[in-house]
Amino acid sequence: ETEQDWRWDKGVCRFCGVGCGIMIATQDGKIVATKGDPDAPVNRGLNCVKGYFNGKILYGKDRLTQPLMRMTDGRFDKKGKFTPVTWDQAFDEMAIQFKKAYEEKGPTGIGVIGSGQWLIQEGYAMTKLMKAGFRSNNIDPNARNCMASAVAAFMQVFGIDEPPGNYDDIEYTDTAVAWGANMAEAHPVLWQRVIDRRLSHPEMKVVNITTFRNMTSEGSDLEIIIKPNTDTALLNYLAREIIQRDAVNQAFVDAHCVFCAGPTDIGYGMRATDKFAFEAEKDIQAREVEVTLTRDEAIGLGLDPEQVHTIAQSNTATAGKHWLVGFDDFKTGVEPYTLDFVAELAKGDSEESLDAFKAKLVRLADLYADPKRKLVSFWTMGFNQHVRGTWVNEQIYSVHLLLGKIAEPGNSPFSLTGQPSACGTAREVGTFSHRLPADMVVNIPKHRDITEQTWKLPPKTLNPKPGSHITKIMRDLEDGSISWIWVQVNNPFQHVANANHWLKAAREQDNFIVVSDAYPSISAKVADLILPVAMIFEKWGGYGNAERRTQVWREQVPPPGDARSDLWQILEFSKRLTLAEVWKEQAIPGLEDEGFEEGKLPDVMSAAQEMGYRPEMTLYEALFETPENKAFAWPDPVAKGHDNHTVKHLGVDWFVEKALFEEYAAFGRGHHHDLAPFDVYYQDDVRGLRWPVVDGKETPWRFNAKYDPYVKNGEIEFYGGAMKELVTGNLTGPTTQEKTKFPGKAKIFFRPYAAPVESPDGNYDLWLCTGRLLEHWHTGTMTRRVPELHRAMPAAVLDMNEKDAEERGLKSQDAVWIESRRGKIKAVIETTGRNRPPRGYSFMAFFDESVFVNKLCIDATCPISKEEDFKKTAIKIYKV
Ligand code: SF4
Repeated sequence: ETEQDWRWDKGVCRFCGVGCGIMIATQDGKIVATKGDPDAPVNRGLNCVKGYFNGKILYGKDRLTQPLMRMTDGRFDKKGKFTPVTWDQAFDEMAIQFKKAYEEKGPTGIGVIGSGQWLIQEGYAMTKLMKAGFRSNNIDPNARNCMASAVAAFMQVFGIDEPPGNYDDIEYTDTAVAWGANMAEAHPVLWQRVIDRRLSHPEMKVVNITTFRNMTSEGSDLEIIIKPNTDTALLNYLAREIIQRDAVNQAFVDAHCVFCAGPTDIGYGMRATDKFAFEAEKDIQAREVEVTLTRDEAIGLGLDPEQVHTIAQSNTATAGKHWLVGFDDFKTGVEPYTLDFVAELAKGDSEESLDAFKAKLVRLADLYADPKRKLVSFWTMGFNQHVRGTWVNEQIYSVHLLLGKIAEPGNSPFSLTGQPSACGTAREVGTFSHRLPADMVVNIPKHRDITEQTWKLPPKTLNPKPGSHITKIMRDLEDGSISWIWVQVNNPFQHVANANHWLKAAREQDNFIVVSDAYPSISAKVADLILPVAMIFEKWGGYGNAERRTQVWREQVPPPGDARSDLWQILEFSKRLTLAEVWKEQAIPGLEDEGFEEGKLPDVMSAAQEMGYRPEMTLYEALFETPENKAFAWPDPVAKGHDNHTVKHLGVDWFVEKALFEEYAAFGRGHHHDLAPFDVYYQDDVRGLRWPVVDGKETPWRFNAKYDPYVKNGEIEFYGGAMKELVTGNLTGPTTQEKTKFPGKAKIFFRPYAAPVESPDGNYDLWLCTGRLLEHWHTGTMTRRVPELHRAMPAAVLDMNEKDAEERGLKSQDAVWIESRRGKIKAVIETTGRNRPPRGYSFMAFFDESVFVNKLCIDATCPISKEEDFKKTAIKIYKV
């Protein structure tokens, strides 16, 4: 047997939002090799070290191959031992427990957690099952803790989600600025394209704005080390400089932008719980009530904001509120952000001179303000995982809009994503607790109408109240208001901050937790029922990457044992419940405000019967096996060209994959989100297409008439419809009740600097930032099973400054306790590693469950996006 016998086929890397193409070789039902796809425009044959091991993640020794349930004496027992069961036993118990929670608590008593690792059809099917079937919006992806701030800002600024540019901007630009993005480790193939450009184009300058020296610094011309949380001030300095230097592209701004401001202190989304609940109770009517406390308000309640250990979500409506201001108001807002003020505030390396730091800020302003220079700003979790995550995303757009450096080749504000389908599934399909497909949301009646009509549901089936976001689902579990959770493609009990709370809630309270997983992750270990899943190339599927590129692959090998795809599991479970059980009257707190009589979701069964539904119909029959869907046949190119692939497809009816894709695509076609027909993506020579795909052509740059078929008015049009009625005001609040609409324009926001929610003090005296490393994917459940990757990076260490270590009597490789206000963990310190924090700062990757850094992190969220802040935890360390 030689390599000549291998069968090669196209695939997509599942390890980050870059979305590299890979080629997969199989032989005798096993993946034997993978390599970069030379025809893939994203990566042109290159992969990073994770990408090359896409095949090996399937073959870990402890792969889960059969359903496991906690049992004693043959019956489910929360305190019992994991015992192998059949799929029927698993689904039977899952349905019993579902009905118990649903009968007691209604649609708000259940929850689903997913991620941007769901395939497009999987995310869509689960969204439909939850929102249309169970009438619950308690579904949220891990994108909430990854990209939600970017989403919120896209919607606020442009009224439409996803970046206007694409990766080709790298080859057109003269400048790349990474803001809170260690691209060399987190987006390595894109970083390679940046480095290629820098080496082949002498004018190209690369800047790394970061809180610690990292691998991205190595390839940069300018490294700017800032204090945590000061990026908002730095962006206001840039805006001020652009104005002072007369570098505003006035014609562009006049034609395409309006200026906005909002409340200047929206708090930290703080909700005091546990030891503070007693004091807070008088102002917070119930634990479910969403509130925002400012620092002053927290103090007014007798709380020490530095000591508050659980931070809850806040009121989006208030936090996201904004109004129209004039250019002069904006100018007044940024006026205090002088070079002197911002340099003092933001200088992050105490050993660097203030003058040297100032010179760097001036150099940065030179690059942005130069009208001849094209510029791409990249950012990722450093911006997004931030208690001001939405603001800082809005601010980077403001800078690009002021300069007119947007929506054309080489000029682009570009938010990178972490998950392979954070865009294609988590965001666009509508898996967030507040969303519906194609950027629609549950709390707008027209959006619900469109969705109900597309899904052929009786009117008022959909629940108008945004559900719990991922952190709140965990809190609801702790509160007991949710008692049934299904986790797919995610490991939330390891990745959600303040993890000790959720682990305890899972194991010690009366609830039922189902986890679909390929390996015994932390989440699987705390579950009551584990469902074994088919992994990426053991099923057909598609992802959408960060440049709006939708890419697909075929099933290459069968899954081991009884493992089944997430989609199969969703569909099978939907056969266990009838319409009569879920489309009855449902009490939902707070629905009175949404115009629902007596605050209840109505019984829609009789209206449904008039439409042809029967009460005894299963949700599968009603939602997935519709006559229209059954009419879909499997695409010709697949059947004809690839008969040697496994085509059994593990029990998922053939029509379903295509039917779900086409049904989902119908939401976006004609509405700025057009996907190509399903079959097109499966053609052998197609390596993904960037939506909107109109008349067979993809759209490389949006909002620009040269490239975007949706631009109808002029050369540039921000057509997202963001311009709802805005009240005219000034920086401090509305002054005029004049309502104004500005179709086709983008918003330039003034947002002030705000102090972080938690800072080092005499007791907890170091900053901790968490993040990713090149070798491992997220919580490491897959990449730690690849021997080569595990050997390369066997454990997470705490990177810290050598002098900080010496001061504490420590040296590199010492074992230490790391303690925050939320818990403590043991790890080894490293002072000469690839990450070199300045004094007072430390870094740890979150891939290693044996170290478990998320027990330390603060679950403070951006009050608008509800994204957690993993970048700013106060810790202390001491020798073990
Ligand atoms: Fe490309 Fe990201 Fe996969 Fe690396 S991990 S090969 S950069 S998609």
